[in-house]
Amino acid sequence: MKLKEFQGKQLFKEFGISVPKSFLVEKNFNETLVKEKALSLGKQVVLKAQVLTGGRGKAGGVKVIESQKVIESLKKMLDSEIKGFKIEQVLVEEKINLEKEFYLSLTIDRDEKNLVFIASSKGGVNIEETAEKEPEKIVKLKVGKNLEENILEEISSKLKLPEIKEIAESLHKIFFGLDASLLEINPLVFDGKKLIAADAKVLFDDNALFRHQELLKFKNVEEETEIERKAKEFGLAFVELTGNVGVIGCGAGLVMASLDVLKYYGVNPANFLDVGGGASKEKTIQALETVLMKKELKAVFVNIFGGITRCDDIAQGIVEFKEKNELKVPLIVRLIGTNDVIGKQVLEENNVGCFDSMEECARKVKEIIG
Ligand code: GDP
Ligand code: MN
Repeated sequence: MKLKEFQGKQLFKEFGISVPKSFLVEKNFNETLVKEKALSLGKQVVLKAQVLTGGRGKAGGVKVIESQKVIESLKKMLDSEIKGFKIEQVLVEEKINLEKEFYLSLTIDRDEKNLVFIASSKGGVNIEETAEKEPEKIVKLKVGKNLEENILEEISSKLKLPEIKEIAESLHKIFFGLDASLLEINPLVFDGKKLIAADAKVLFDDNALFRHQELLKFKNVEEETEIERKAKEFGLAFVELTGNVGVIGCGAGLVMASLDVLKYYGVNPANFLDVGGGASKEKTIQALETVLMKKELKAVFVNIFGGITRCDDIAQGIVEFKEKNELKVPLIVRLIGTNDVIGKQVLEENNVGCFDSMEECARKVKEIIG
């Protein structure tokens, strides 16, 4: 789960990290009130587009403006897009003095199979360039569940910034307390007196969300595509991908293998969809309905290795779906395992061909879509 900047800052604040004073504005805002509030933040304010993407600074999503002109600037921003994301919310912030911009993050380093703090005395919008051209300006430190004093010491001495210790400690607390997967402050600003998180990037591990009901308030609907929302409604494990062949399977491993085999034959899967073990006729219908929502679809590959799942249930689902809906694209089915003989018979009676091996299916898909 991804947080928008203002949500990330709210979280940081709860954990004692300083953030600039700000307020959030949405479409159809009260102009008198907003102007009054903006003026109370100072002669100038910063408008920040709240979209789930980074690099807003360079794309025009962060603007320093005269508070007097806040209304027209807000209207303009709320009517525009950034990197394909509609701007529905803007954060109006006090303009802080950027005496120095640092970088601090805590994330998972998959190569190291560990968590790492990454810190730099040269933060800001060009951090990627710093990483490439001046790697010596970036410190990377492995860290475990216990945050040892020497790690904090090392970060603060490398950056010559004793105040950063407390912030690193807060990030560590958030990371383990709430099962985050990325916490990033870029820039972490020194305004001449203290450190302030001028931006916030926060990701949580979706698989641990059930442990943190308190995080549900941060859920952003834009994070999901329309099809993903539908899949969730049906309780299907689904991830939308960029290709044009729908995939339905039972069991995550089998679905992954299906994606691999399609890719091997030069076919790009449109999605990952696991109907789960013991899927019913209804689940099958829902799965087809979901996958077929994608406009660019050219074919659907159903891959069932029936264990708990009964092939005849799946076949019944396919047939029923076909009776009620117009199937716009070819269906390629692999059906083996529990009750496969009955399942195959049902499909054949209804003119749906089916195969025993997934390689055969993948080749067939490739043949069809070219
Ligand atoms: P990002 O580009 O999406 O990461 O957006 P940021 O929130 O990091 O903003 C981009 C840049 O705008 C920062 O690196 C700062 O240089 C600048 N910026 C952000 N907030 C302020 C602020 O309050 N005052 C000033 N002067 N500059 C800011
Ligand atoms: Mn940033």
